[in-house]
Amino acid sequence: MLHTERVRIELWRLSPLNRDRNGAEDYALQKVQPHKRQYEKRKAAGLCTSTGCAERPSIGHTHCQKHLQVMSKHNKEQYQKRMREGLCIYCGTRPGFWGVGCVICRQRFTKHPLPYGARRALRLYCEAEDKREREQIEVEARHAVRRLLASGDINGNAAKALQLYAGVDDGRWRTYAEVGKVMHISKERVRQLLLPSKVALALFLGDRAPWRSAQDLLGLR
Ligand SMILES: [Zn+2]
Ligand SMILES: [Zn+2]
Repeated sequence: MLHTERVRIELWRLSPLNRDRNGAEDYALQKVQPHKRQYEKRKAAGLCTSTGCAERPSIGHTHCQKHLQVMSKHNKEQYQKRMREGLCIYCGTRPGFWGVGCVICRQRFTKHPLPYGARRALRLYCEAEDKREREQIEVEARHAVRRLLASGDINGNAAKALQLYAGVDDGRWRTYAEVGKVMHISKERVRQLLLPSKVALALFLGDRAPWRSAQDLLGLR
């Protein structure tokens, strides 16, 4: 064996990490809190882990029957107290976050950083914002339609189609098919009648038009 190799093995034996790995229990126990050490000693001795108790633990537990009941009662009371005070049932220090657990404690049980209730509320908020934005765009567009009609640049059937399409009289936007039905013309004819108006409006409204951009309408894109 080479000298360097032997040195390496000696060092390996001496390393605290290795002593720990070899199961040097005393060494491991020194590192933990005194009460935890006491707990481990009692557990190893086959005793109920409550301090000073001489009973044997119940099967599958680390406490005797009596102490299990005491703990259960205590936990129940603590749970109810924390619920009453609106505090996290696990730590009792921070308020509950969309449920009985606080924002920190709930991470122990769940993968998703946001609770279902919060996600739902966010989604509804976004949907409401989108709806509001769409409505606002439609109101602005209808206003522009009124101005275009008042300018006299659009006349005859084109003006009538635009009036129906934007719902100038009743505040309801219509599809090409719906406009065509009222005017007894085809969908394609409605599209042709509306094209000059839509191009003019889209140039004026830009991205805030409730239909495709002017470039799309003209087939430039
Ligand atoms: Zn006990
Ligand atoms: Zn907590």
